[in-house]
Amino acid sequence: MSTTRSVTAPVLVLGGGMAGVECARTLGDEGVDVLLVDRNDYHQFQPLLYQVASSQLPAEDVARPHRVIFADYPSVELRTAEVDTADLSRRTLVLGDGKTLSGSFLVMAAGARPNFFGVPGAAEHAFPLYSVADAERLRLHLQRLLQAAVDSGGSAEPGALDVVVVGGGPTGVETTGALAELMQALQHTGRLDPAGTITLVDRSPTLLGQFSDKAHAYALRKLTDVGVQVKLRAGVTVVHPDRVQFDDSSTVAARTVVWGGGESGSAVAQALGPVVGHGGRIDVRPDLTVDGHPGVYAVGDVANIPARHGDARALPQLGSVAQQSGRWAAENILRELRGEPTKPFGYKDKGIMAMIGRNAAVAEIGRHRHQVEGPIAFAAWLGVHAMLLSGVHSRTDAFLSWAWDYFDRDHAATVEVSTTPRRIAWGDDDEDVPHISLDRPGPARTAATT
Ligand SMILES: Cc1cc2nc3c(=O)[nH]c(=O)nc-3n(C[C@H](O)[C@H](O)[C@H](O)COP(=O)(O)OP(=O)(O)OC[C@H]3O[C@@H](n4cnc5c(N)ncnc54)[C@H](O)[C@@H]3O)c2cc1C
Repeated sequence: MSTTRSVTAPVLVLGGGMAGVECARTLGDEGVDVLLVDRNDYHQFQPLLYQVASSQLPAEDVARPHRVIFADYPSVELRTAEVDTADLSRRTLVLGDGKTLSGSFLVMAAGARPNFFGVPGAAEHAFPLYSVADAERLRLHLQRLLQAAVDSGGSAEPGALDVVVVGGGPTGVETTGALAELMQALQHTGRLDPAGTITLVDRSPTLLGQFSDKAHAYALRKLTDVGVQVKLRAGVTVVHPDRVQFDDSSTVAARTVVWGGGESGSAVAQALGPVVGHGGRIDVRPDLTVDGHPGVYAVGDVANIPARHGDARALPQLGSVAQQSGRWAAENILRELRGEPTKPFGYKDKGIMAMIGRNAAVAEIGRHRHQVEGPIAFAAWLGVHAMLLSGVHSRTDAFLSWAWDYFDRDHAATVEVSTTPRRIAWGDDDEDVPHISLDRPGPARTAATT
């Protein structure tokens, strides 16, 4: 397909996450004008959010200002604004202040939002973990409860520090592992006895459903070893401020409920009508374009990207899918600009992996899902995450050094309620800090309820 479209307008990219940043960088490398719009002035690295929530990393270490990422990209312009609506036919975005932006191409890279599936009380009382602001809210909430317990002599009210994590996928399992270690570490300091109990809940009969049976058993064993209560085949029916009700009529008391129970396409995508498919995501063709809308692409978590080899399922919501699809969309735009045909997306499958806690990780590597556990799995996790981070940081060595220490370290020796966590030595200038606000509109506020 060749383009007759005017290229005097920039390529409009909605979303500065892994997909949007990679797309804009690839176009910027070729000197193409890009206008990147995001509600935040920073990129957030979601795979490390639970380290923020469990006080093991400060929020600013996982958020990187877009202006720093694009400092050497003169053709990439940045706009910090909430986008209210998108019009795919016109390739326009309408901002919260009523202004309209239009592009020669439009790339939808708006990510996802938590899906509470209409569970009463979940949107009001549960803590999703999808953004830096979500992670920071959860950290502050936990810190308040922990501090109150320490102030009252270490003996909190029964259940006051208990946590329920909903969702036994990688997000729920990783968060549970981190919180369980935090609780254990606090207990070992002698300042809290007992610390909170973590309960992990999932409807399915196993944890880490998309992994192999061996990994299901490994995750279950590692979590129960650190004192986690795992409740399987149990659906949450109501979330109250102080307890969670289940479909077997049982109840678990908890003032903290973490929601890792599912996600759907971002709000702005869900209003797009017929192009919206499974999970509230935008259906795309193999070349990542949106059918019936020339010059419009959708990439990353907001898109249902067809897997190849006759597999009817869409690719999973993973960082590597987001990053590679963002780059591929940019390459297809460059092809269109040269008057060449676009190419179907070829995903290089790195596999799936989860870090369950100190010295505990599981990975199924590559398309053939070669399974490894423990330090080797952690090394695989590190390699993939260093690659994902390389899109926004040049100092991935700093991440590697922090992460090995994290994996190896006995948290009991280092964590206390008010301890400043060991930082990743990014070496950024002081003024290169992101503006993280907990009040801005974000996915938590606009979470899907059905
Ligand atoms: C807790 C957690 C842990 C994860 N761990 C891993 C992991 O270990 N490995 C892995 O591969 N993947 C992991 N993932 C998945 C991975 O992070 C995502 O697949 C990836 O970040 C998706 O990138 P994206 O660019 O599509 O979306 P996002 O990174 O979500 O970016 C979307 C951007 O769009 C912006 N935006 C959205 N709507 C609007 C609007 N209306 N107006 C303005 N801006 C808007 C947002 O602010 C955001 O910056 C994890 C995800 C989570 C939530």
